[in-house]
Amino acid sequence: MPKYLIESHCHLIGATAVSENLGDKIKTLADKVAFRSRYPELYKQRIELPPIDISDALIADMDKHGVNYAIVQQDYGRGDNDMVAAAVAKRPDRFFGLIKIHRYTDSINGMPEREAMPKLRLRAVEDIRRGVEDLGLIGVSEFFARVFTREVNPDDILEDFRPIFDALNEYRIPILIQTAWTQFPHSLWYGNPIWVDELAGAYPNVPIVLTKMGRGFESLFDSALLVAMRNANVYFDIVDTIPTHLRRAIDTIGSDRILFGSDWCCMTRWVREPADCYQRHLNLLDQAGVTDEEREDIAWRTAAKVYRLKL
Ligand SMILES: [Zn+2]
Repeated sequence: MPKYLIESHCHLIGATAVSENLGDKIKTLADKVAFRSRYPELYKQRIELPPIDISDALIADMDKHGVNYAIVQQDYGRGDNDMVAAAVAKRPDRFFGLIKIHRYTDSINGMPEREAMPKLRLRAVEDIRRGVEDLGLIGVSEFFARVFTREVNPDDILEDFRPIFDALNEYRIPILIQTAWTQFPHSLWYGNPIWVDELAGAYPNVPIVLTKMGRGFESLFDSALLVAMRNANVYFDIVDTIPTHLRRAIDTIGSDRILFGSDWCCMTRWVREPADCYQRHLNLLDQAGVTDEEREDIAWRTAAKVYRLKL
């Protein structure tokens, strides 16, 4: 057993009344992915109803699997950084919080127009400053690149992201960049993280967590691994990866660049076949044949280093 187990990737804020009873609709991860198209009305309500606090449900699932701490973030939907900070303030013994900059559009399926983006980038910078200085948050959560850029050339994407990365660089805080798919519309193109190489190279002091390391897809994993091989500031979390990818990542960039996480959220918490989200990710460590030392890194050491946690 590792000394600690840190959940580095979970979405605490974003639940609504609709997501409280989805056990009959979501049994597998595939059910979660299909939820938006199978139940469009429920999906809309899940995003648009007032957010509710499900900290107790998260703590219960953490306790069931020996998870000591969780670095919590906002989900898609309403809710804001104050809610994240309030949840952390209620459980400072278990939670750390991340800044949300990913949802700056009021339309449920829309993404901002190009003209709106400079303002949104400045808003992101303000949110980062306020999140760190006033709310005590310790990084930037998984976000949609498409909210801040419509470029497809890595050099141009870098230019669009500069204000945000200048702020991250100033505070030396990490950011999570999503890879592969999400259950939400848009942004799939940016799920191939090859474009992150320019950003990571330009900001070597900003830790970048390529979450999900391609989510089990070969071509996306190869892109993620290429970027991580070339940039020592790039990390992976193990969310939804597969044993062969985890093993190859450990052997290529080292277990001290990999974080445990499950993507627990108001939807994923209902997944239970073949196992619930914590058990599935603990099984992944076993299936990848991690050594005791590698397990210590992935379970907590890497997260403690990247987020400079005082445990
Ligand atoms: Zn996530």
